[in-house]
Amino acid sequence: MKAIVKTQPSKGAELKDMPIPEIADDEVLVKVKAVGVCGTDIHIYNWDQWSQNRIGEKKLPQILGHEMSGIVEKVGPSVKGVKVGDYVSAETHIYFPKDLNAMLEQKHIGEGMEILGVDRHGVFAEYVNIPERVLWHNDKSIPYELAAIQEPLGNACYAVLGEDCNIAGKSMVITGDGPISLMATAIARACGVTKIFLIGMSDRMMAIAKELGADYVLSVNQASPAERVKFVKDNTYGAGADIALEIVGNQQSVSDAFKCVRKGGRVSAFGISPQPRIEIDYDNDIVFKGVQIHGISGRKIFDTWYRVRNLLASGRLNVNSIITDMMMLQDFDKAFDKLTAPNRTSAKIVLFPDKQDLEQALKRRRDV
Ligand code: ZN
Repeated sequence: MKAIVKTQPSKGAELKDMPIPEIADDEVLVKVKAVGVCGTDIHIYNWDQWSQNRIGEKKLPQILGHEMSGIVEKVGPSVKGVKVGDYVSAETHIYFPKDLNAMLEQKHIGEGMEILGVDRHGVFAEYVNIPERVLWHNDKSIPYELAAIQEPLGNACYAVLGEDCNIAGKSMVITGDGPISLMATAIARACGVTKIFLIGMSDRMMAIAKELGADYVLSVNQASPAERVKFVKDNTYGAGADIALEIVGNQQSVSDAFKCVRKGGRVSAFGISPQPRIEIDYDNDIVFKGVQIHGISGRKIFDTWYRVRNLLASGRLNVNSIITDMMMLQDFDKAFDKLTAPNRTSAKIVLFPDKQDLEQALKRRRDV
């Protein structure tokens, strides 16, 4: 089978012929229909410090990718709930069921998990073997390209809803204008957030955010930190936003989140910071403010899968505009170039192993 493989401990990846994977007793073989390119894949493609530490030379060659949709081709002898022909996606965190967190219904932060495309072969291939326990049945009405991005949509869904799902009729600040920030905007709108402020940088991405339901977009290049906070307060009866989602992971974005949230509000911490330390005014922005801080690592398994499927299938959540590019799997180099370009104009890129599937997806897009 064709696969995109990290072969060398340096920048890049290769299109290679790899054997179709064998399946274990509790696994299924999936014929991959569409895959999403994620920030994690960019780290691995660039072979940055994180990938060197996390994956290391010893594991190479390894197939990239973790976001996918596909059709079940074969099932192992102990698989009970999945059959050949089923339309599936997969939770990419293959949790260890006996870990304490997993047993306490916090599978997403369990110990001993394996991540697709990080700790084992990924999905940028014609076929992938996946344990039954992380498979998710897709609604047939959801096209391949959207089913493939349910995994990051789940992250965004978790960030938006928090643990208590107490968001209806409330206001929300979302930092960043990458795919997760855009997805969070669309989900917040679909789930009843009534005032959304997005703090971004790129004109194209902020325009998409407006289309997806952001009421206000603030550019970090045009409004100073103080002006951004003032704007949010002026539009929330002087109080600040009920909820702030930090989805960038730098000092400026973290400060925006803590300064823009109102007393008693919630800050969801999602962005991963390459800086070793970020400053927060502990007394004034957390203690005296009575703020709740919610760390987002992965997505609630399978609560967010269930909600995202329902949102997509119902048509309440339309995230087509976040998929800015669709191309063949073998054009992965072009996809990585677009996603790392200095003036990035791409949000989410979806790749297809099969030409016909790509053509149909492009046709669907034209017909919208
Ligand atoms: Zn991802």
